Amino acid sequence: MHAIYNAIASHRTRFVSELKELLAIPSISTDPARVADMKLAAEWLCGHLEKIGLTSRLFETERHPVVYADRLDAKGKPVILFYGHYDVQPVDPVEQWLAPPFEPAVKDGVLFARGASDDKGQLFTHIKAVEAWLETAGSLPVNVKFLIEGEEEIGSPHLPGWLADHPDLRSADVVVISDTAQFGPGMPSLCTGLRGLAAFEIHVKTGESDLHSGSFGGAVPNAIQILTSMLNALHSENGAVNVPGFYDEVAEPGADELRSWGTLAHSDEEFRASAQVGVLAGEAGRSTLEKLWSRPALEIIGIRGGYQGHGHKGIVPATAWAKCSMRLVPCQTPAHAIDCVRRRVMSLAPAGVHVDFLSGHGSPPVSIPVESQWVESAVRALESGFNKKPVFIREGGSISVVTRFVNDYGMPCLLLGFGQPDDHIHAPNEKFNLDDFVSGIRTSAALIAELAKLDSTL
Ligand SMILES: [Zn+2]
Repeated sequence: MHAIYNAIASHRTRFVSELKELLAIPSISTDPARVADMKLAAEWLCGHLEKIGLTSRLFETERHPVVYADRLDAKGKPVILFYGHYDVQPVDPVEQWLAPPFEPAVKDGVLFARGASDDKGQLFTHIKAVEAWLETAGSLPVNVKFLIEGEEEIGSPHLPGWLADHPDLRSADVVVISDTAQFGPGMPSLCTGLRGLAAFEIHVKTGESDLHSGSFGGAVPNAIQILTSMLNALHSENGAVNVPGFYDEVAEPGADELRSWGTLAHSDEEFRASAQVGVLAGEAGRSTLEKLWSRPALEIIGIRGGYQGHGHKGIVPATAWAKCSMRLVPCQTPAHAIDCVRRRVMSLAPAGVHVDFLSGHGSPPVSIPVESQWVESAVRALESGFNKKPVFIREGGSISVVTRFVNDYGMPCLLLGFGQPDDHIHAPNEKFNLDDFVSGIRTSAALIAELAKLDSTL
């Protein structure tokens, strides 16, 4: 690894200026005015991947192109599929940026630009690792594929179709994704779990129309009161979800995993301050990391009913609705969670009141088993790249493409986050620490060496 690490160190300045070129392209996927820039970013990547020695192709979709590149000349060796995305979030409120978001600038070893961390900078670590290998060794000891989409920030609408249409291109021994964060500075991390999602709505209707509160108030049911008391009953006083069967599928983390979370430098006070709330909440007897990583949550995300205009109006509202969203943990399934809540909600519906339960979109949680040769290789690569033992963490959020790879295609997935929790992704002044950038390139290069020791399972 010595020669490759030397090459990475000596090319640091060039690597950063190339990344700045990519970051200067305003590839905001959601903005119709940026369609040409999206194409430009995709073409820039295709050209760059060709230049370092891969074969690349651009696939048009109904919206933004998919970039695919590979180099498959290491016979019998594992195939690594690197996934990343070249689209970025919008930049508003742009006046809060200290420098223009698409004029990348380095200040005190930190690169500021939209996309610096999410995800162009992190994606670029793998491209530069492959380049360093090719330059130093003349060939790769493994087979590599790059799949870089332009629609991650808008929910990847065309990626599932692309994956289904190109089984030969997506097939790999292991998927490597760097689109998450380290647990903190100097804490290289491997993410082993993501929460899933399930949404539902409750609609309450007590009669045909709102009634005069003078003529009817106190003698007829109030839709908002019924809805709120039903919503209230979905949690018990200790903060747990009060729905029979809801926790049946929840898998408790292993003792080792829990113990390792206990050693992470987490402060409830810092967490509270970062959330800018006065007090923390949730299930009694559970740590904050448990609440975020291994316990499900049920949130009321929107509520509506009655009069919301100026002043007052003397009515008894006839309709009310609420939208709710659940975060699910391994091994919950959206269908079971929704089913339990539906039964609970319908059992709470008072006689003579019309209650509708509507289930919405859902995606299952993802669990990445730690006992695998892929994870063991990644742990060694992180330790070599960062000169520090990595920690195992989970993420409270969901990454839909990971669900696709792990749950739908059964592909082992390595989530190597090189960013920091305070990189301001999706916010003004997004940044990426250049030491993390270089450590990420080193890790990816070391991972290639580690995986080359394994046989392909394809
Ligand atoms: Zn991202």
